[in-house]
Amino acid sequence: MIYAAATHPVRVGNLVIGGNHPVVIQSMTNTDTLDTTATVAQCQRLFDAGCQMVRITAPGLKEARNLEDIKNQLQQKGYTGPLVADIHFLPEAALIAASVVEKIRINPGNYCDRNRGKTEFSQAEQAAERERIAERLSPLVEVCRQHGTAIRVGVNQGSLSERLVSLYGNTPRAMVESALEFIGIFEKLRFDQLVISMKSSRVQLMDQATRMLWDRMRQNGKTYPLHIGVTEAGDGEDARIISAIGIGSLLTDGIGHTIRVSLTEAPENEVPVAQSIVKAAEYLQQMPETERDALAIRYDAQEKTLAEAKDGAEQDETRGADIAKEKVFARILTAVRWGRLMLRGQKEGFRIEGVLFSEDEKKQLIDDIFHAAGLRSHKTRFIACPSCGRTKYDIQSVLAQVKARFPDYPNLTLAVMGCIVNGPGEMADADYGYIGCGNGQVNLYRKGKLVKSHIPEDKALDELEALLSLGEGS
Ligand code: SF4
Repeated sequence: MIYAAATHPVRVGNLVIGGNHPVVIQSMTNTDTLDTTATVAQCQRLFDAGCQMVRITAPGLKEARNLEDIKNQLQQKGYTGPLVADIHFLPEAALIAASVVEKIRINPGNYCDRNRGKTEFSQAEQAAERERIAERLSPLVEVCRQHGTAIRVGVNQGSLSERLVSLYGNTPRAMVESALEFIGIFEKLRFDQLVISMKSSRVQLMDQATRMLWDRMRQNGKTYPLHIGVTEAGDGEDARIISAIGIGSLLTDGIGHTIRVSLTEAPENEVPVAQSIVKAAEYLQQMPETERDALAIRYDAQEKTLAEAKDGAEQDETRGADIAKEKVFARILTAVRWGRLMLRGQKEGFRIEGVLFSEDEKKQLIDDIFHAAGLRSHKTRFIACPSCGRTKYDIQSVLAQVKARFPDYPNLTLAVMGCIVNGPGEMADADYGYIGCGNGQVNLYRKGKLVKSHIPEDKALDELEALLSLGEGS
């Protein structure tokens, strides 16, 4: 079993996060929360795939109210895994949801206030804002206490409050201070059923912020369980590798108690990736340190496999499937192992040996790991949110089109985001952003600023290309 450093335990329905309990795998639906049938069906698929806890967005009061129907239908079908409500901007929705689901996720950057472009805060203004946060959290704590509901304080680098950015910049330190401020307020309200997360689409920032928070909590004498994930990872192999680096590095070091891999794909695809990352971290924890930190890895399974495969076509087919599975796991394991070293400053000298991978595959894998770790840029960096009930267009197919059309812009980050509410903030460090805003229309952004709005979807890629050809922001 994977070792995760012990923390204060947090009960979430029939699970416990932290304490000495195993790492919990979770995911999130991307259906419309008001579409009960579709949301229940997606939750079922997730639980069937091995997901242990499912998050559902509650952007408004109607969605928050509908969580009860969703939960009842799941229970009638025998699905008793905990549900989590995702709240942004609307404390009233949290109050409704907290009496229904087992956990609430709030974002300190937008639970109480929207950012308004303010860059300076006097001490009195800062104190007044902290006071207002405490006032807004107090009723939520009462409902959570009454119903045994846990809370995740989900800090996101892309949506920090401007007050904290004015004090610390948009940095890992600001993320940590944001979490500690909310923890302090909850502790004053004598509420400790908290899970904390530090997310960013930049794996280094997420890693630094999480380790800094972990150290600060230990210094303060109380550690809360950590939810680990790399946000806006996108889809396909790159998303799997960046998730393996970010999540796996921390898990290998015993940091992390629940994880979510965010993919812009069917949510159930996230579960086997998360399971492989946990398995890889567990495997690495058991290795002697010198072996774990070696710069060369040998994968030789294929030699044995090919010899055995000579016995017949059927066996050949079975072994072929086994080889494919071995390769998938070997990619994740390599990304976790080397990504962890890269995040600690090792920047070259990596080598893959053996015959499991062809020479081209070895080169590709090494390039992909360097790219995901942000150390080498040989192609466009894409970020994309996993989408959720707020998304009003087919983000998966748009992301595929954007990737196919603009593959070769090294040092450029292109974002495809699911909604105009959270998307602009969370892709703020991207050079260009594409957000479908519903009704077949698209908004385009440069460096976080809206530059074209309400473009018909069939013209959006041409407009994006025209912006790129201007070369600004790259
Ligand atoms: S940015 Fe994406 S995942 Fe985040 S709230 Fe909007 S649609 Fe949902």
